[in-house]
Parts: sequence; structure tokens; C-alpha cells
Amino acid sequence: MTFCFRTASPASGLLLALLAAACQRPLVPTTTTPTLPVETGVSQTLAEARKQLLSQVAYTLDLTIPLQKTAPITGSEVVAFHLKDNRQPLQLDFKAPADHLRSVTVNGHPVPIDYRNEHLVLPAQALVVGRNEVKIEFVAGDQSLNRSDDYLYTLLVPDRARTVFPVFDQPNLKATVTLSLTTPAAWQAVANGPLRDSVRTAATKTYRFALSDSISTYLFSFAAGKFTPVHREVGGRPMNFLHRETDSTKIRLSMPAIFRLHGEALSFLEKYTGIPYPFQKFDFTAIPDFQYGGMEHVGNIDYKASSLFLDEGATKDQLLARQNLIGHETAHMWFGDLVTMQWFNDVWMKEVFANFMADKMNPEAAAGPAQLLKFVTDHYPAAYAVDRTAGANPIRQPLANLQDAGSLYGNIIYHKAPIMMRQLERLMGEKPFQAGVQEYLKKYARGNATWPDLITILDAHTPADLQAWNQVWVNQPGRPIIDYQLQPATGKPTQLLISQHAEDGSDRVWPQQFEVTLLYPSGPVELTVNINQRQVSVPLPAQSAAPKYVLFNPQGLGYGVFPVAPQLADNLATLADPVARASTYISLYENMLSGRGLAPRPLLDRYLGQLAHETNDLNIKLLTGQLSDIFWKFLPAAERTALAPALEKALWQAMLNQKLPGEQKLYFKAYQNIALTPAAQTRLYQIWQTQKARAQVKLTEDDYTSLALALAVRDYAAPQPILSQQLARIKNVDRRQRLEFMMPALSPEVAVRDQFFASLKDEKNREKEAWVTSALGYLHHPLRQATSEKYLPASLDLLAEIQATGDIFFPASWLQSTLGSYRSATAAGMVESFLAAHPATSYNPQLRLKLLQATDDLFRAQKL
Ligand SMILES: [Zn+2]
Repeated sequence: MTFCFRTASPASGLLLALLAAACQRPLVPTTTTPTLPVETGVSQTLAEARKQLLSQVAYTLDLTIPLQKTAPITGSEVVAFHLKDNRQPLQLDFKAPADHLRSVTVNGHPVPIDYRNEHLVLPAQALVVGRNEVKIEFVAGDQSLNRSDDYLYTLLVPDRARTVFPVFDQPNLKATVTLSLTTPAAWQAVANGPLRDSVRTAATKTYRFALSDSISTYLFSFAAGKFTPVHREVGGRPMNFLHRETDSTKIRLSMPAIFRLHGEALSFLEKYTGIPYPFQKFDFTAIPDFQYGGMEHVGNIDYKASSLFLDEGATKDQLLARQNLIGHETAHMWFGDLVTMQWFNDVWMKEVFANFMADKMNPEAAAGPAQLLKFVTDHYPAAYAVDRTAGANPIRQPLANLQDAGSLYGNIIYHKAPIMMRQLERLMGEKPFQAGVQEYLKKYARGNATWPDLITILDAHTPADLQAWNQVWVNQPGRPIIDYQLQPATGKPTQLLISQHAEDGSDRVWPQQFEVTLLYPSGPVELTVNINQRQVSVPLPAQSAAPKYVLFNPQGLGYGVFPVAPQLADNLATLADPVARASTYISLYENMLSGRGLAPRPLLDRYLGQLAHETNDLNIKLLTGQLSDIFWKFLPAAERTALAPALEKALWQAMLNQKLPGEQKLYFKAYQNIALTPAAQTRLYQIWQTQKARAQVKLTEDDYTSLALALAVRDYAAPQPILSQQLARIKNVDRRQRLEFMMPALSPEVAVRDQFFASLKDEKNREKEAWVTSALGYLHHPLRQATSEKYLPASLDLLAEIQATGDIFFPASWLQSTLGSYRSATAAGMVESFLAAHPATSYNPQLRLKLLQATDDLFRAQKL
């Protein structure tokens, strides 16, 4: 680093003298701030320096959106801010081609455009201590504007605001934005701030929005295009909803629920936090094929349209998922939007709180078990799917540059963190926990806070040692394996010894509480175990006989690999409580993967027998999901063929056994997923062709599309190409385009599939990421792997580019949809070669972890 490189400001004689002195004695420490290097992304160093220097940031932004989606969006911006020290140049973040900057004026004086490494560098001599105004004429970068023919929307998390306009893109420089959007005349528009007015000409409409609340840049948002506006008041609060849904049944059935659920979520959160809804307005928009379930933009939540609009075929699970999603995004208004992380290393905090609150506000919570079952089936399998792998990451991870923030997201944040939070609440007690959370929100409202800030507050509300607890649960990855012994081993046991050891062999202990049920001839006895060390001894009640077996974790809240008694695996139907069954299915599956329990085929046989008994919808989903994973990922092809007739028969029969259409549909979907025999495929074809579902199952247009895709990937010989016929049936233009995109990936001709895969090397063809990952799932379907395996090396080579150009979940979903269903030794070999050629020292470590996560099943399949 050097102190001598900037042109000295003529304004300060003293500064010149200091600089001269520094240059003569470069090794002597000095109080002069070193010039920050101009590096790509937003480094933590840059962010910390700017946080010290800047305050009162405000953006005024005018954008003109042309009718043609390929024509540039021009912009004009004023960035106003208060500066503490003007001795150094100041970097604005702007990640777009250099020619997108047209002119820059600082405090009324034009300055030359100094654009380096994704930054517009403002010369120090043009800046003043105090209030500054920078005016910039530019062309907006398209990368995060998600432009379609007749709509567009921003999605700027975590560091994408800087791809659209020059900005101080870091979460702890909160700012107001005053936006105006000029759009084609027929378009609607929504943004963070309330609409102030609009002006229409023959061809255009200019929407002028009022000053927004003070928000982090990743929460900046607007959407514009051909949308249907809906306005309603819920509990006295006006809400505006923009959508593009055309299916009148979906609209009729969904609209009341969408508004009602938002109203319920808001009143729950106001009560729990003790803070009234903290922003000016509450609107939301449904976007077709939105990248995530939703995004919590202040004043304008965006949702994936298909998660909000459900029809009469919706399963209970889909209804609950919608409710959870709305609860999650609404909770973010307090957790994330009102109090925001200082830096994106704590991004998981807002996610865990949003999930935690969504689970809490579920009205079924009063009923207890249903909510608990949803918690267990949602979070545990997904958390274990990463935490059991060599690529597991801790909940809290360091982050040196925001450009890598996307790689922090994943199952650990979304699924392990809620489990951790629930254990934390259990450790502290509900009321002290809530009091701590309220104190935290009040203290940091409209500002930023770190996880240690929260832990410090919570620590004062509990006698437990939260710092030690935090270390293993939050700062480190992994999980324990639980073992037990009854003592004495013969006769009537008086003690239950429970021990834990880390799955990775390290010397760690996860303090936690879980339940254990001992089944005695006289009836079950449930105990709560507080395992706060390596081994605990639980005294058993005096009984006249030994227990038949010990059931671990019947309430599902313990975290780790729990033992399952063989008698229990043979008699799953005897478990009457759905939560205990879910927890046992999860334990059986984890033990299978870790080679400690039943092998894949014997476990699949137990599950096959259980199909006749499982009637709970969430458990049907869990059980059939595991069953299909074992079938496709852990059985050799010949064994699959031999097993298929019995499995299909059992699934079909299980479907007929169900009383409710939702449960029937889950079994039907599982049948469709397996469907290997010609008889099953012909049955599916007839259902698809006649559009008549069997039993009480209700199939929607989306279901028929999925059925058509299932038949196509099986090369079902129909008189007319199935997918073309399905395409002709689809009325909604967005869903037609999706199928059109996917069709070549399912072509019966290898050459067409080769061409499809080759086309993905061009970034333009990967724009609709949800389409790409769906298509890849079929391209790499187990039935297609003989011809698709050859795509694997190139798919891996593309990974770094996928991360650089795609959205935050894309690298993981690219890997998962590509590699997730392989089991062959050759595929494993290709991944091994890639890992060997790209060691951790020279390859993005986060991407390596994602690859290890996505290929964990593949490597286990080699051993099982
Ligand atoms: Zn979220």
C-alpha cells in the first residue's frame, strides 16, 4: 500500500505536507488513511471504510424502460451523502460494461469518468467534507433486471443493486430512494415507496414514487409490466397486488387466502415483536418463475407466482407451504428489513428468524402435532442433506467480499439454523427468548446488528452458557451420532446411558434436549433427555419388566443420527404418532446412508410394506420421497426393473386406500415417479391422453405437463409426440414458453439433447434458471444417464461461470439437477478427477463445498 498515489488536493496545504512526509518515511506509522485498493466486488475492507466515512445516503433515480426488451434502459441518478473525510477518492460500486457510464458530475462540477474493477472512482478533490451530490448519467446493467417481453423486475440480493446503477452496495449503508420509472404506456409499476403520481403520454407512462423508507440496497426493488392490479384492505391496511395469472379458477380460489394470510402474518408479528408494522406501505407482486419462493423487498414483496396461486388440486402440503412462505416474507419486514445484518456473513440470521416466525404463526400451532410434524419434515431431512456431507458449512461463515455472498446461502441457513434456533428457545424458555428478541429489535431498529450482538442480549436473559453453545451449533458444521446402552444389560434395566460423538470424528459435543420413549409391556414411558455432555445417564422408572424397545427422538427435535431398534423398523405401522413415524423414517434413512443401519434394499422393503399404512400427507411425502431416492439412486438398474411391478402395485393400491384427494395425489405422484413397467406407463399415458385422473385425484394443467414430461423421458411410444400435444394444450404464455424451452432436453434423439446441453454454454440460454434446472433434471434422469454422463465434465467446468453470471442458488441447483441422481462409478470418477484438478488452494472453496454436497449420495452409493 502506498500513500503517494493520488493527486493531491489543492484544497489542503496541511494534507500535502502530511503526504509528503509520509512519502519520505513510508515505514513510519501515520494517521493518514491509506488509499483503498480498487478491487472487484465489494470487499469487507471497502465496506468498513465507507461505513466510517458516509452517512445520510439518499438516491434519486430516474429510469426509462423501452418497449423492446433488448433496447437499453437509460438512467439518471443523484447520489447524495454526508462525508466525514475527503482526503481519499471514494468508490461507488457499478458492475456493468464501462461504456454504460455517460457522465459524472460531483457537486456541480463535471469530472472525468474513472472506472476501474467494477467501481466508479470519485476524485478526492471534487468531494467536500459534509454534504455531497453526485449526478450520474448511465445505462442500467441488465443482469439483475430480469427483462421479459412485457415485464421486468429487480432482484438485487445480495450485491446486485450495483449491476443496475452506481451505488454504495452494502447492507449497513441504509438509504432512501426516490424512484421514477418511465415505462410503455400500458404497463403497471410498483416500487419500495408509495406511488406519488403518474404522467401518461401516448406511448409512455411515468410513475413517480415518493421517498422510500431508509433501507439496505439489497432491498431496493421495482417491478413493471403487464400485470393485473388488485387492491384490497385487510384489517384497515391497504394492500396492492400485481400478478399475471390467467387461470380463473386459481385466481378465484387463491385471492382471498393470499390477502388474508398476509393480514394474519402482520398481526402475529406486531404482537410477537411488540413493534407495529414499521414501513410506509405493504404491497406484493407475483412473478412467473421467480428465482426464489419470495423476496422481502420493503413495501413490495415479490413471490413466485406458482407458490401463491393454487387450485382445487392443491395438496395440504402446498397450502401449508404457501402459508409458510407468506409468513416468512412478512416476518422479514422486522427481521432483516427493520434490523439488518451488518454484513452478509450474518444473512442466515434474517432467514432463520423468518422461518422461525413463519413456523410459529402457523394457526395450526394451537393443534401442536401438525405444526411440529411440518417443522420436522421440512427442516431435518434438508439440513442433514448438507450437514452429513464433506461439503458441510457452519451456519455462520466469514465473508471477505460481497461478490461471494451468494455461496453462503443453502440448506444450512434455511434448515439447520431454524433447528438451532428452536433448541436455543428450548434452552432459554419461550418467554425469556421472546423478551430478548424484542429487546434486540428495539435496540437496533432501522439500523444493523450482528449475531454476536443478539447472543449478548439473549445471554443476559438466561443462566445457560450461550457462548459455548454458540460455538458448536453456529460456528462449526456437522452433527453428532447418538448411541445408547441399557444398564444392566440383562434383566430389568435401571439406567439408560446415552452418548454422543461427532460424525466427523472430532472431539465435540452438541448440547441439546430430546425425548426418548421406552415401550414397556405396561405401556410407553416418555423421558426428556438433556444431553449437555458426551454421555449422560438417565435413571429409569421402576418397572416389572425390561422395555421391548427404546424409541429415540419421538418428537423429532433432537439433531443427529439416532439409533432405531430393529423391532421398530420391522413394525413401523405400530407407531401411531405421525411425528414419531416421521422422525423414525428420517433416522432409518440417515442410518442407511451412514452404513450403520439397514442397507438400501432391506430399507426399501420395509417402506414398501409401510405404504399400506401411511395416511398422513406430510409423512406420505417424506416416505415416498425417500423411497424414490433409494430406488433411483441406490439400486442397480437390474434390481429396479425386478422390483418395479411390486412397487408400482403397492403405490397404486396405497393411492386407492386414501380417503382424501390430496393424499391420493401424493401417492399418484410417487407412482408417476417410479412407473417403469410398460403397464404403468400405458396407464399414465391413458390418464394424460383422456385428461381423466383416476380415483378422486384432481390433476391440473401443471400436473398434465409433468405427466407428459414423465412419459417423454421414458420414451413412451405414442402415436403423436406427447410434448408437442401438451404444448398445444397450454393456454398460459409463460407456461408455454417454459415447456418449449425444456422440450429439446427431453427429445428422444440424442443429437437434439446434445445440442440442448451445448446451448447452455451460452449465458443467454441460462437466463431462466428455473427452466434450466428443471430441464437438467430430465436430461440427467437415471433412464437417460447412459447418454448424458458425457455432459458431466463440461457441466463441472461451467460451474465457476455459473456462479459468476447466475443467481445465488444457481450453482447449487445446477449441481443438484446435474449430478443429483447419478450412482455410477464412472460419474463418481469424473467428479473425483475434477476435484483433483481443482484443489481447494486454487478453486473457489465455496463452490468446492457445493460440489461435495451435491455428490455426497453419488459417493455413498459406491460404498452401499
Ligand atoms: Zn427469506
